[in-house]
Formats: sequence, C-alpha cells, structure tokens
Amino acid sequence: MISRVDTINLANMSALSETVYVPSAPQVKSDIASLLSSKLSAGEDGQWKITTFQTTPLISTYIIAWANGPFRHLEESYSSPLSGKTRPLRIYTTPDLIHQARFALDVNRRVLPLYEQVFDIEYPLPKLDLLVATDFTIGAMENWGLITGRTSAFLLDPHQADLSGKKYVASTVCHEVAHMWFGNITTMEWWDTVYLKEGFARLLGETIILDRLFPEWKLRPAFITSELVAAMTLDAKASSHPIEVECLDANVANQIFDALSYDKAATILRMLSQYVTEEKFLKGVSIYLKKHLYGNAVTKDLWQGIAEASGLDIPEIMDNWVKKIGFPVVHVTEVDGGIRVRQDRFLETGPAVPEDNETIWSIPLSLLTIDGSGNTFIDHTVLLDEREKVISLDISRLFKLNAGTVSMYRVLYSPERLAKIAEEAAKEDSILSLGDRLGLASDALELAKAGYSLLSSTLNFYKILHAENDYQMWSCISSGLSSISSVWFEQPDIVEALNTFSRSLLIPVVKRLGIEYADGEDINTRQLRTVTIGQAARAGDGSVIADLVRLFNRAIETEDDSCIYPDLISTTYWTAVRYGGRKEYDAVEAVASKPPTPQMGNAAMRALGASTDRSLQEETWKFITTRARDQDLYYFFAGLQGNHAARRFLAEKFKTDYDVLYKRTASNFRLQRLVQYSFEALSSEMDYEETKAFFKDKDTSTFKMSLDQALDSIKARAAWVKRSSEDLRQWLASRT
Ligand SMILES: [Zn+2]
Repeated sequence: MISRVDTINLANMSALSETVYVPSAPQVKSDIASLLSSKLSAGEDGQWKITTFQTTPLISTYIIAWANGPFRHLEESYSSPLSGKTRPLRIYTTPDLIHQARFALDVNRRVLPLYEQVFDIEYPLPKLDLLVATDFTIGAMENWGLITGRTSAFLLDPHQADLSGKKYVASTVCHEVAHMWFGNITTMEWWDTVYLKEGFARLLGETIILDRLFPEWKLRPAFITSELVAAMTLDAKASSHPIEVECLDANVANQIFDALSYDKAATILRMLSQYVTEEKFLKGVSIYLKKHLYGNAVTKDLWQGIAEASGLDIPEIMDNWVKKIGFPVVHVTEVDGGIRVRQDRFLETGPAVPEDNETIWSIPLSLLTIDGSGNTFIDHTVLLDEREKVISLDISRLFKLNAGTVSMYRVLYSPERLAKIAEEAAKEDSILSLGDRLGLASDALELAKAGYSLLSSTLNFYKILHAENDYQMWSCISSGLSSISSVWFEQPDIVEALNTFSRSLLIPVVKRLGIEYADGEDINTRQLRTVTIGQAARAGDGSVIADLVRLFNRAIETEDDSCIYPDLISTTYWTAVRYGGRKEYDAVEAVASKPPTPQMGNAAMRALGASTDRSLQEETWKFITTRARDQDLYYFFAGLQGNHAARRFLAEKFKTDYDVLYKRTASNFRLQRLVQYSFEALSSEMDYEETKAFFKDKDTSTFKMSLDQALDSIKARAAWVKRSSEDLRQWLASRT
C-alpha cells in the first residue's frame, strides 16, 4: 500500500514492513518503483511510504479491507485462553474522536476470549482492529481483522453515555466479532443462506454472549421485544419470504439483509437452542465450525453439527422454519382432560386462506404447568408437528404455552382462559416470568390487529398490568399504545383519548420515580424512569413537558448541556422541538449539524421531525435534501414518520423529490428504508392505492421487497381501522 508518510495504513493483516519511498532503494519492487516515479512530481522524495502486509489465510472477497487516514489509536491486548498467545487489539479514529473510543475497545478485549472458549477455535489472525468511519452506509462491517463501523456503532463519550447508546456499541462490537467465526472462518456457500452468519451474529453477539458480559441488562427477555417482535412483524406479512431465499442477482442479495435473515434466523436458532439445551446447541455450533474451517457451508451442515451434539433429527424440526415463509398461531381449545392445539399460518390481516396455510411447522410448545403445591414445571420437549393434537393436562390449574416466549408462534386462548393467565401475570409476585409477560403483551396486541381478538381486551390487559415494575414491560406497553395511536393517527379524538389512558397508567410511576437520576440507582429504576417519562411526554403530560423544556432551555442559556440527563436526551430534544418554538428548533438543529457525540446527533436528527409547524417541517426537509449526509437520512425520516402531523408531509415530499432521492440512494441499502419510512405508517385504503399507483411505472428492482412490505403494512392498518374503530371508541368512552 502506498501512502503519504504522515498517515496510517491498515489492512486485514498486520504490516510486515513500512518504508519511506526512495527511488533508488533496492527493497522496492520494480513495478511499484516505476509506477511511483511516473506519478510523483519532482521534490516529493521522502513524502511517500510503502506498506506491505502479511498474507491472509484463505478469505472471502467481501471481507477484504484496507484503510488510510490521519488516524489515532488506543491499544489493548488479550491472551488466548486456548493457546496463551497474546494479540494486540486496537481502535482507530480520527484525532478528534479518540477520547470516545475506550468502551468499544474494552468490549472487544472482553468478548474475544469468550468466543474462543465457546467455539473452541482460536481467533486466527495476528491482530483485530476496529476502525471508526465518519461516513458509513450501514452500521458496521466485519472485515476480517479490520472491523469498520459508523461513529454511533463504536463511540461513546464517557461523560454523556446513555444506556441505549452503550448497549448499541456493545452489541455492535459483539455482533461483528462473532462474524470473525460466523462468516469469516466459515462462510455461507451463497447469499441465499446469509442467515448462517447474520442469525448467529445476532443471537450470540447481541444476546447469549453479550449477556455474559452485561447480565444486568437482562438481554435474554429483551430479545422478545426486539428481535422476536421484529421477526414476527415482518413474517406476518403476505410479502414476507423464507429465510433461505433464492438469490439470483445483487439486487435481491442487497434486499435480504432484513429482519428475516437477522431476527427470524436468530429467533428460530434461539428456539432450537432452548429445545436441545443451550449447552448442546453451542457444542453443535462448534462442531459445525470445525468441520468447515476456511470453507463454505449450507444449512444442512449446521443441522448436522447440532444433530451430532444432541442426537436429535434437526432437519425434521427445523427445515420448514428456514425454507418456508411465515410462522404459526396456535389455537388452544380446552377439552376433557386436556387441550387441543391446532396450528395455522399467522398473517397480520387475519386467518390465512387454505393455499397460504399449507405449511406444518414442528413447534416446540414449551408447556408451563403447575402442580398441586404451586410449583411450576416447564416441558420443553413437547412438539406440535402435525396440524392439531390433544395434550393431556389438568385444566383446572393454570397452564401456559410458549413458556418464557422461547418459540416463534402466537397463542390464541379462549377469552376466559386468557383472563386467568392475565390475572396471574398482573400479580406482583407472579409465577410467570418476564419473558412470559412480554410474550403475552405482544400477542395481545398482534392478535387484535389480525382480528383474532378485540382491541378492547388488549387495552384491558395493559390496564391490569399497572402494578408492573419491570421497565421492559413498561417499554412494551408504551410501544403498544404508541402503535395503536399511530394506526389511528388521523382520528384526533381517538389519539387524545389514548393519550389520556396512557397518562393514567404512566403518571403514578413518573411521580414515584421523579425526573432526577441518582448515582448508584439500579438499572431497572433508571430505565423505568427513561421509558415512562419518554411515553408521558409523547402522551402530552404537561408537567413532564414543562420539566424537560426547562432543562433544555437551561442548557441553551448556560451553553452547558450537562443538565440534560443522558438517558433522556432523545425525549428532551423531541419535547423541545415538539412543544417549543423557533429557538428550541434552532438549538436542536445546531446539535444535528455538529453533534458533540454520535448519540446526541442521532437524537437531534430524529427530533427535527417532531414539529407540528409546517414551516419547520419544510426546514427539516431542506436539511435532508441539502445538508444531511446519506448515512443519516433515515434518522430524519424516522422522526418525520413518528410525527402524526408530518407523516403525510413526508410521503408527499418523498414523491416530489423521488428522482433526487433515487439518484442519491438507489445504489446502496438506503432507499429501501426510506421507502418504508415514507409509506408504511399510512393507514387508509386510499393511501394503499395511491402509493401503489405512484410506483407503478418506476424501476423498483433495488427496493421491491421493502415496497411490497410497506404496501402490506398500509393494507393491514387500513383493515384494522375498519374492523376495530368502533370497539376502540366504545372502550375509550367507557373510561370517562
Ligand atoms: Zn452482521
């Protein structure tokens, strides 16, 4: 590699040598020498250097990387628990950012030996660098030995660190380091099985292994409201696709880096891990990797490894989860001496017609029962591998399917049975785990959306959970309420009544906790405050809004933002733009233009979409089209989509400026997300028709999947409005 002498050169491997270029030097190969002498002007002697790197092992082309720049670095090292060998670990940034790089480096140092132990395979390269790029298309990229990523993926200011920013950095580092094995040592044979790297990086990197580093984050139940919900949301659409999907060209390959390759894959692998036990699952994964070192693999190779470790017929259980579209809903009917369970494909628009309902999944049911002394027992071995069957159990006692919400299916009980389970879930000392309660809350919303149950019963369920103390449950309830409000976004009476209901649930918690974060508080208390204040502000609580705007204005006046609590940065910026005026908007815009930390920048860019003032919305659009960097576009779009008063504005602007946006973003991953943000949250049949008509004569080859998914979303939301408005209105009216 040839570069200026005062810059840093990096590649997958360590440098072998670095020499300043001198025309007559004997060590310079003749082709390089002749190239340089033809390119360099006179007087540039001593200004250039040549770096040669060690040769890589056998490596896939998509993980080759090299970099040059005016970098600074921090350095640590780790000792391999397998060989005792010590390897350097560095993180590189531009000089202005290096003070925010320590945390990512520490996570890397801690996680690398853990992976070696779990897989029983040593990290094979001589070093592992992280490189922070200030402009980057995706979040991060697992180049072997030289992981690259955007600023928010790796940087954290120790004085301004909020928990969600910290989690994002830790999970990104662990995800990318997992790829050093999944993808890099063992590579999928083709992009149709990209899940073989992404599903594992998500499950192991972001949950199972990360949980060992940060048990206080309770990442295992958190999986339910992030990955599992993301997987089910997309896979409940008619336009979903199997995890393994035919990939004939780059356009398709670029579109399947989605919630199916990542989240559904992670979800079904987690389900399998629970079924065969995590110990045997990880053992099987190690067998699989060892058999395919520096080689390619397909799905059956993975199943073979896990079959060898568990002694079970894995393809029989797993193939339909990977090769077929969708996932099931299990209907539970109580019969003499037990329950009859029946599976059908779950679609967000309601029961599937027979031709869409042909798959029979092997579903690990994870059945929770209680004995006479009140002890719970979970049977992970029961499989529903036919359309329906009867299971013997004592229905006079409490039972629950999908214990811990470890499998990928929804459960439809009779209203009477659900009421009993909900009553147990609402108890302060409930025998139902956090995972159970999160799954119940998620099912309550999605079954109502699909028309299997009434939306009023979802709201009743939220209501009886008011004594809940876990922040993850409050986060789930809050996002449930927001998503209902979002569907009815153009019916102000419903939105306002939902806000009133939200406040009635949240304000007692907010009052109990107060707005100040004390040192030494446990994570649950801090997060509970973050979640409930965030939702209370969005539901229009005057007192919370006044507090947040006051703190924001103090930060402007004193030019010191330390009075804004890091965990409330997003909520504070959002509230300032939403309820403030020109002064607050300008202050948030200044942060978006020159962010002190990546987390503050992202929060500010989202918040710029929060205004109800059309002229400020226009300014935000101008920012998007003239100043925003391509990598940041979706933060602005997400902010505008989340604002009921700007959602239609966003869709119209997208259409007006389509040619410019297309030119700017169609060649990479970005346009897909912009299409989704612009249209998926609309809720009427007219929107469906208009959106479809707009794209009719466009070349949609780079974003067809996203467009179809957005259209399905509109259709499902419109159907929900039609089906449930009356029920919703009546329930809300009955409260007053
Ligand atoms: Zn990945």
